[in-house]
Amino acid sequence: MSLILNKLKKETVIYCPLCNKEYRPDNLKLVEQAGETILAHSHCPVCAGAVLSLLYKDFLGITLLGLVTDLDYADTMRLKGGELVDEDGILALYKALIN
Ligand SMILES: [Zn+2]
Repeated sequence: MSLILNKLKKETVIYCPLCNKEYRPDNLKLVEQAGETILAHSHCPVCAGAVLSLLYKDFLGITLLGLVTDLDYADTMRLKGGELVDEDGILALYKALIN
């Protein structure tokens, strides 16, 4: 487990944009890490809204960018390695749905 992730769990308070409450990200889970950049998943204990957070460390410190999502952690892990959807795939789905 990353030192940055452990530090964030202990010292960070996340603002939930869905219910406007603040919470400690005790449930912050690593999705993927590349060097000093981390993609992590957490959910708000008040409203259960989920946030994907991109964390990276540079000379200015640690920066956290959050994105509200409806994916739970299991879905995030399942979809992160999925294949990209291209135009042909979308057209094939459209044709299947209208028939
Ligand atoms: Zn919330």
